[in-house]
Amino acid sequence: MSLEVFYFDGQSSRRHTARLEAEAGFLHLDGPAGKRWIPHEEIQVSETQGHAPRTLRFADGTYCEVAQSAALSALLDTLGHNESIAVRMQNRWRWSLSALMGVTLILAAGYFWGLPWGAEIAAPWVPISAMQEVSETTLNQLDNHLLEPSQLSPERQQKLTQGFQQLAAADPDLAPYAKSLRLYFRSAPKVGPNAFALPGGQIVLLDELVELPINDEETLAVLAHELGHLNKRHGIRQLIQSSVVAAVAAAYMGDVSYLITTLTAVVLESGYSRDMEREADHYAATALTRQGQSPALLANALEKMENFYTDKKKKKDTDGEKSHFDWLSSHPDTEERIQTLRGNSGQAL
Ligand SMILES: [Zn+2]
Repeated sequence: MSLEVFYFDGQSSRRHTARLEAEAGFLHLDGPAGKRWIPHEEIQVSETQGHAPRTLRFADGTYCEVAQSAALSALLDTLGHNESIAVRMQNRWRWSLSALMGVTLILAAGYFWGLPWGAEIAAPWVPISAMQEVSETTLNQLDNHLLEPSQLSPERQQKLTQGFQQLAAADPDLAPYAKSLRLYFRSAPKVGPNAFALPGGQIVLLDELVELPINDEETLAVLAHELGHLNKRHGIRQLIQSSVVAAVAAAYMGDVSYLITTLTAVVLESGYSRDMEREADHYAATALTRQGQSPALLANALEKMENFYTDKKKKKDTDGEKSHFDWLSSHPDTEERIQTLRGNSGQAL
């Protein structure tokens, strides 16, 4: 019994009609190039996939397309092609894929939940003294590459420092940071309005934030938020997480510069999670309320920063430039944070 099929020469998409016949171990192909016998082991038979036609591929690159039918099954049987093995192989392939997906899921879960969880457990055990030196080195690095001296008047610096010290002194939990807990004034036109806390306790305030324009109370509200990151040891947690990821990446790529880049990104706040930001906001709201001030001060500051970065982003869209530091504009929940802080105070200032 012979079967009519489509035959392709493997060079063009043109199809020809051909006839197939089988006997034990051999396929008889009667096609445009004449008749030939093809041994079973030189034929790759595609797996069953629903009702899609099967492909019989030959060693020379030519192939046939055959519609699924009882006649095809009978032909493959005669040829000696063991369908059950193919099906078993297919199942094994499916199983392997499931196993691979399982492993990927476990790794992803480890990355998204296990790592932050581990870092949270480990963070309180990291001595602040160990962080102080790392942070000092990081600050030196930033001074060499990114930060410029502040242009703020000594009087303004003095006033902000006083307010900052008052905020810090009100929280006994910040005592372990005492040795290095200090406000640093810097400028960084490339970064824009920002303030950040290094995990050792050094807090850097950029002129660009102070000059948004923003009043001193609002600036201090941002510093209270940064103190919140210190109080909750967010920087240390981020450092632990990123170091693990960076160390793995460095081991794979043999490139340590990735580690340095990661640390810089961490200190510039780009890596904090939404939960961490909310925690720091909540800390700031409590600290401000304790001083008889409104949490809406922080909301105002966030709004001004958000507006700055949104404008900058719009401008960037036109000249195609891209910055790594616009973390505020990449956080869609800034509006939500502002609402929460205003909700705490019941009104906008
Ligand atoms: Zn923050």
